[in-house]
Amino acid sequence: MDLALTEEQAAVRALAAEFTDREIAPYATDWDRAESVDRAVIGKLGKLGFLGLTIPEEYGGSGGDHLAYCLVLEELGRGDSAVRGIVSVSLGLVAKSINSYGTQEQKRHWLPRLCDGQALACFALTEPGTGSDAANLTTRAVRDGADWLISGTKMFITNGTWANVALVFARTGEAGHKGVSAFLVPTDTPGLERREIHGKLGLRGQATAELSFDQVRVPDSARLGAEGKGFSVAMSALAKGRMSVAAGCVGIIQAALDAAVRYATEREQFGKPIASYQLVQELISDIAVDLDAARLLTWRVADHIERGLPFATESSTAKLFASEAAVRAANNALQVFGGYGFIDEYPVGKLVRDARVMTLYEGTSQVQKLLIGRSLTGVNAF
Ligand SMILES: Cc1cc2nc3c(=O)[nH]c(=O)nc-3n(C[C@H](O)[C@H](O)[C@H](O)COP(=O)(O)OP(=O)(O)OC[C@H]3O[C@@H](n4cnc5c(N)ncnc54)[C@H](O)[C@@H]3O)c2cc1C
Repeated sequence: MDLALTEEQAAVRALAAEFTDREIAPYATDWDRAESVDRAVIGKLGKLGFLGLTIPEEYGGSGGDHLAYCLVLEELGRGDSAVRGIVSVSLGLVAKSINSYGTQEQKRHWLPRLCDGQALACFALTEPGTGSDAANLTTRAVRDGADWLISGTKMFITNGTWANVALVFARTGEAGHKGVSAFLVPTDTPGLERREIHGKLGLRGQATAELSFDQVRVPDSARLGAEGKGFSVAMSALAKGRMSVAAGCVGIIQAALDAAVRYATEREQFGKPIASYQLVQELISDIAVDLDAARLLTWRVADHIERGLPFATESSTAKLFASEAAVRAANNALQVFGGYGFIDEYPVGKLVRDARVMTLYEGTSQVQKLLIGRSLTGVNAF
């Protein structure tokens, strides 16, 4: 086993670190307060190839392997989880699905513009009444001649109001997961309304939206994958997506560690830096152990994908551990900052708020445990 990075991986990580320090971290607090990142950042991510990692160059992608992808998400997540999430969704959940399941026409139409940041995508699975129980979704797509008419509501959709295309999961057949199909819906299609959700605890710089579909007409050529196979498209996207959430969590934990170490060596109480107190060192070393464990579990998923090994359970394991660890680590860092951690002039409060959603989306921690348990026992406990 070789945990050393290749030259290319080290170079892409350095590029992402430099970009994060220059273009993201200095603005993250302002974007959080304004409830929107500066959307110019999307074009910049595209120019650097960060929105096309792992996508073949013939479709406008920047190639690269899954570890390089994780390294970039770690760095972006260290700077601002809101920015990391934009990439995780547009590239990780949608562009990668188009690359895996799309026709030549779909790939040639969507991938170049998603990879260079001219267009953004969102992934519309969750509904008001179905979150963990996504297989019971109620949005319907009904055939109308050669077209489909989609009606229903999607909830909590990341990039929702910014996206040019939505990967929408809708019921085209029987109840349960076998009756679901996937569609690529341009977001300017008549009948599609988008409402931004405000007042989020974290990820405030990111657009999260409710999408409602009222007889939205798309041609059959908008269907991604076979009819009735949409749930497999969603689940395979999420299996890889959980790795990218885990990588984003590694970034949060790294930011928590960096901030805690810096503050503990500068802040003095009782005439000495607080770093000289064993109980403060305990908080810091707990963060460091979480960081190493989360990073190694995440890198293992990338390694499995590259070697063509099964990776879904490893991805659930990484996401479960890294998301819970990010909450713990951010909270420990806040403790090191004392009262100053509680105000947003310092970065750790935002880390706590941004970390909190990681245990909820792309499958809650409970859902990850059920997936891991099912793979170990063969028993479906959902
Ligand atoms: C900021 C944000 C961004 C999001 N982005 C997207 C997006 O881009 N696209 C998208 O499709 N969705 C998105 N989501 C939705 C997210 O994936 C769901 O919120 C998540 O899957 C949980 O669904 P729910 O909120 O309906 O909770 P529920 O499913 O109602 O769960 C509530 C509680 O019950 C528990 N629970 C449920 N079923 C079981 C069970 N069988 N056994 C044990 N416990 C159970 C859960 O773990 C949880 O604790 C986003 C959510 C947020 C908050």
